Amino acid sequence: MLQYRQIHLDFHTSEHISGIGSNFSPENFEQALKEGCVNSITLFAKCHHGWSYHDTMVNTRHPGLDFDLLSAQLDVCKKIGVRAQIYVSAGFDEKYAVEHPNHIIHNKEGIYYPLDKPGYHRLCLGSSYLKVLVAQVEEVLELFKGKFDGLFLDIIASTPCYCDECKARMEVLGINIDDDIAVMEYAKQVYREYCDAIDTVVAKIIPGLHIIHNDGGAIFQGRHIAYRNVGHFEIESLPTGGWGYDHFPKAAAYARTLDREFVGMTGKFHTTWGEFGGYKHPNALLYETALSNACGARCSVGDQLHPDGEMNLATYRLIGKAYRQVAKREPFLINAENIADVGLVSAEACANSPYSSDFDRSDMLAWGTDQDLGANRIMLEGHYLYNIIDPEEDFTKYKLLILPDNVQLNGRFEKKIKDYLGLGGKILFTGKSGTNRNGDFAVDFSVDFLGEKQKCPSYMRPRYDLYPNGITPYVMYSKGYYINIRKDFKGEVRADWVDTYFNRAAEHFCSHAHTPYDKRLTGPAIVVTDNIGYIGWEIFTEYAQKGSVHLKYAIFDVIDMLLGNDKTVITSLPSQGVVSVFTQNFNGGRRLINHVLYAIPKVRGKGIEIIEDIPAVFNTKVCIKTDKTPSKVYIAPEIKPLPFSYENGRVTYSIPDFTCSTLVIIEF
Ligand SMILES: [Zn+2]
Repeated sequence: MLQYRQIHLDFHTSEHISGIGSNFSPENFEQALKEGCVNSITLFAKCHHGWSYHDTMVNTRHPGLDFDLLSAQLDVCKKIGVRAQIYVSAGFDEKYAVEHPNHIIHNKEGIYYPLDKPGYHRLCLGSSYLKVLVAQVEEVLELFKGKFDGLFLDIIASTPCYCDECKARMEVLGINIDDDIAVMEYAKQVYREYCDAIDTVVAKIIPGLHIIHNDGGAIFQGRHIAYRNVGHFEIESLPTGGWGYDHFPKAAAYARTLDREFVGMTGKFHTTWGEFGGYKHPNALLYETALSNACGARCSVGDQLHPDGEMNLATYRLIGKAYRQVAKREPFLINAENIADVGLVSAEACANSPYSSDFDRSDMLAWGTDQDLGANRIMLEGHYLYNIIDPEEDFTKYKLLILPDNVQLNGRFEKKIKDYLGLGGKILFTGKSGTNRNGDFAVDFSVDFLGEKQKCPSYMRPRYDLYPNGITPYVMYSKGYYINIRKDFKGEVRADWVDTYFNRAAEHFCSHAHTPYDKRLTGPAIVVTDNIGYIGWEIFTEYAQKGSVHLKYAIFDVIDMLLGNDKTVITSLPSQGVVSVFTQNFNGGRRLINHVLYAIPKVRGKGIEIIEDIPAVFNTKVCIKTDKTPSKVYIAPEIKPLPFSYENGRVTYSIPDFTCSTLVIIEF
């Protein structure tokens, strides 16, 4: 079983600094890991600068280092029982890049980033550099066999390259280098060959060793890429380092479907990697680690070791505050299985799946990721239990599928969707989703798809009292689509479109913004049957871009109608709260683990979201569907009993107050 409390100890160190490791001491290293409550750590064999931190015959030890630092660190890990992984920088090796600029990744114009500017240059794994890298990995495996449990290879992605060696090989393979799609396919082949080379050397020396190919949290590249990792996944996602607080829950929601243990990697930095002297508020790390656990992940916190090798104890006191909380919660996390009502089909994962060959390629290349982002937010803010899925997933695990905005149906995917509906499944389509190559809905629910509206923005007028502002036309900025309801339609129209007089243009415009609605022009826009919901705008993309409150509640309305009483959790938690529910083996049966979190990231500085204040949340009501009568409900790990009621197949309790995060355990 993979540990829950990992450190990613960055150590990219310039050759222009001397005294490397001169203040390393086993005592300080041990004290830091203990104060940080750490039980797993990733340690450096080779950094982005290209230097090794151990004795080596195939690379060069850092010129400022006069002993085998990695061995000394591994000895401490062994002594105190901390799992160790070894890091090898694969994509970056600046020493090598400067010596072999022809092996740097080239775009069509040449080296993608000038050599006379500070920063790393990514190397081409399709060049002769691959052999050098594999030899370095082989040496690390031989030297440290039995002393570590995972190999972390960094800066890995399939990237089109036009270096001399790639161009020569593509010519031999008959690939036209002006055909971007063919060049991308070649880049994927290079990636496979790199993975194969690593797999071969690992199988020879340490079969079964965990192998992480780190791609910066880009997990939606498809299973064929994800499964090249061996043992577990690590999702790099530093909320303050450019990833934001939305990235991790979204990536984790997909990782949960891949049947592997996985780690959520944040950082101790105020901003991002390499920031010496930057620290988060402890509340941020308490929240981020609790969020990892609530999303089904283990934790990893990134730090960077000072060049002199001394661990910074302020950092480990900060990390310890969060990791002591994780440690106390572990009995309620281990082997717990996430419950999901909704399968949200990721447009990005579709585009990267083997099923993508069935889609219209020109359309697919236009698929963005905002629809996934918006839909993920809707899942979180609506407190739905969900996974993000690709077309290869078993759809029958879910009570409802959501196909956001432009996930069209063709071939095997279309058949799978029809089979799922045939077995009693339910689906929400929005925008162009659910249509096929002929421009019709691929599934029959007595609604015709008539195509894109020429007028944009348009308006949505609900036929019911839409929370919180009632019945009125609401502006819709995204692309809209016309539908026709046939006579035999058996469902409900929840909202109508209202068009505008004209689009805002040089020849006609009205007022400061878009044109007002023309009350004469209306028709059905949101419809729901027993098993299919349709919303005639690219509403998830719009929610990601605008965040308007009417979009959210219009979507909730349709999802709640479709889910009905099958919705597992109903809660009074405010919109920014996060809820998840797991089942866990306990005493020969199962128990439920309910994670509840609340924190509000705030933009401070320019574009940096931080968490500092965490207000208490009072009287959070939670109602969970369960077919058994609970014997007890309590807050964990404090084991504080909670009064509860059980009726109509639902257990209901109220969490009197909590700050940041809490766990509620339901035993039977
Ligand atoms: Zn190349």
